[in-house]
Amino acid sequence: MTDTYRHKGLRKRMVDTLRQRGISDETVLAAMAAVPRHFFLDRAFEEHAYEDKPFPIGHEQTISQPFTVAYQSALLHIQPRDKVLEIGTGSGYQAAILAVLGARVYTIERQEGLYHQAKSLLDQMGFSSIKCFFGDGTAGLKQFAPFDKIIVTAGAPVVPESLREQLNWPGGVLVIPVGESVQMMHKITRLSATQYQEEVLDSFRFVPFLKGVKKS
Ligand code: SAH
Repeated sequence: MTDTYRHKGLRKRMVDTLRQRGISDETVLAAMAAVPRHFFLDRAFEEHAYEDKPFPIGHEQTISQPFTVAYQSALLHIQPRDKVLEIGTGSGYQAAILAVLGARVYTIERQEGLYHQAKSLLDQMGFSSIKCFFGDGTAGLKQFAPFDKIIVTAGAPVVPESLREQLNWPGGVLVIPVGESVQMMHKITRLSATQYQEEVLDSFRFVPFLKGVKKS
């Protein structure tokens, strides 16, 4: 794995594109400029790694489009040391961005093959503080709750109750795409033990949020 000047240049162009597309959070843009996205893709896609597109990562899953990663990361307003749960590790790219933003990251994946792949890549890249789990994220990660932030990177038909309940309060934030074929991004802020504020934002297309685990 090498990160050449050419890759760095392409990454800078990707960040310029994200800025043009409306991402204004400079902290998030700096994190996107820092993480080599081509490490998370199959060699076959290396040439395209810095296009604003999703790509297959095997097991019928995709690495999210850079715009989507930047959009969700910006909504989370990560503060250094925030305890963050990600549902849907996939390639591990979003988890790496969260770690660069200073979060203490817990990430869970239901596809065993992807879990192993992402965990070893993140370790190899020096992100060994990211805690990877194999399991169904529908239940969250109760033993490590509460979380300051929770991010779901697959399209959920409904907001799992357990995820709301694992938010810290006041101020815990859950960012989750909700819907069947097309999803609306929801930002849910926990105000108190029983009160939540919900904002419905833009539309996206994610791979589906599925129940249970898939052994490879
Ligand atoms: N954040 C990823 C995006 C991967 S696509 C990245 O940066 O590459 C979404 C991932 O969510 C897929 O890998 C899929 O297997 C996983 N997923 C779907 N439903 C899940 C569930 N209930 N629990 C955990 N992971 C889930």
